[in-house]
Amino acid sequence: MSFDSFCLHPTICANIARIGYETPTPIQAEAIPHVAEGHDIMGLAQTGTGKTAAFLLPIIHRLMTTKPEKRGVRALILAPTRELAEQIYQAGVDLGRGTRLRATVIYGGVGMFPQVRALRQGVDIVVACPGRLLDHMNQGNVRFDALETLVLDEADHMFDMGFLPDLKRILSALPEKRQTLLFSATMPPAIAGLARETLTDPITVRIGHLAPPSTVEHAIYPVSAHQKAPLLLHLLGEAGKDSVIVFTRTKHRAKNLAQQLCRAGHKATCLQGNLSQRQRQIAMDGFRRGAFQVLVATDIAARGIDVSQVAHVINFDIPDTAEAYTHRIGRTGRAERDGQAHTFVTGEDMSMVRAIEAHMKKPLPRRELEGFEPDPDEFRRTYAPARRPMRGRPGGYSDRPRQGGFRARDAQPRGDRPQGDRAPAPRADRPRDERPRTERPRSDRPMAARPRDGERRSTFGLSHDAAERQGDRRPRRTFQEGVSAA
Ligand code: AMP
Repeated sequence: MSFDSFCLHPTICANIARIGYETPTPIQAEAIPHVAEGHDIMGLAQTGTGKTAAFLLPIIHRLMTTKPEKRGVRALILAPTRELAEQIYQAGVDLGRGTRLRATVIYGGVGMFPQVRALRQGVDIVVACPGRLLDHMNQGNVRFDALETLVLDEADHMFDMGFLPDLKRILSALPEKRQTLLFSATMPPAIAGLARETLTDPITVRIGHLAPPSTVEHAIYPVSAHQKAPLLLHLLGEAGKDSVIVFTRTKHRAKNLAQQLCRAGHKATCLQGNLSQRQRQIAMDGFRRGAFQVLVATDIAARGIDVSQVAHVINFDIPDTAEAYTHRIGRTGRAERDGQAHTFVTGEDMSMVRAIEAHMKKPLPRRELEGFEPDPDEFRRTYAPARRPMRGRPGGYSDRPRQGGFRARDAQPRGDRPQGDRAPAPRADRPRDERPRTERPRSDRPMAARPRDGERRSTFGLSHDAAERQGDRRPRRTFQEGVSAA
């Protein structure tokens, strides 16, 4: 199948070709025709499947080819985190280049005023996190009388983050006659209920790896912290020419490690939140083409990357949640190919290992390589005993702090917090500003959110004039103008 079969507007086809998409992913092949016909969709798919283009392409096509009945916002896309909102917006900029459609992105942690200006100047598409959008709606900054299509992306994460009440309030202010597309990786009862309430005769599209592929071989390497880099070099030696993704906890570590690997003669690059979109694209394209054999990435920066030929995922740092483990290793062992997931663990990581095993419902094999055995004293000193299972949580163990219930006190709306979609696990040894905001003493919390991986603290949504006044030369953030400046 090719993109031509969707009969999309020639400008969109040109954008698809320029970005380099050759064939539609399965979810695109299934969903695009239904979305284009105006059906409601229940999409069971996770990030990495190409779902963003699956909804953006037909939405952009329809907005370009039909006249609106009223003036105003015609498409609203809700996402749980600012990283995802930003990513969707960026995808819109790429896919909507040259279309004259205007878009803006709305999330917390940045000033309201530039967003108010962008909304008042008039936009066709709004990509938003629910908390901040509701603030704007309450202040009368935006109305949705002209809304044609609503997208609820990562609905299960929105629910996890306590957004359901906000979502319902937003839904109650939208026209009943509209198209609704709901995407979720899982289908807990609350999301099934939301789907029943919001979708009319939906078509279900189910794609992706909701469980880790069975073709992946797992290995846990108990090591001392100083052995991680030598062990990585050893494993890369074993990997030969295979493609490898290495995950680190921080963007600085991703950058340094990639440099270290290059010095050791590997073709390595990194993907982390301090890179510009262009640099990220260069890294990703190079990795996809095989110009780089190793990609060192952080979770948030790597969210959504989908490289089918990855043979090894190496968790240089253990992920912060058990779910993140399955997300990471979901990048290998695709399409029934063999893949290997290697995880380096120090003593303090053992409670997370157990959380992952509980989540996977099986023990993961330990592997010790000669010359890389951990120092038993150090391992014992840092050993973190298992936590007691949390009541009411499937899978039992979780180091993840609960996210609900902080809203009233937090400086920012829920979900717009700079934590990605999952708060990092509490770790006493983590540098102060890398601990979740809620764990830090008040005196230690920054006035405004510090940017984390994959996010930019920006004058996001600034109009051209306001941006210039503040010395920001970036173009006004519309699909159209994002394009002309690119
Ligand atoms: P998503 O699941 O929407 O986050 O997309 C995951 C990644 O796949 C993004 O980096 C997209 O740019 C990329 N992508 C989406 N559709 C295609 C396609 N048809 N061909 C190649 N890459 C794609």
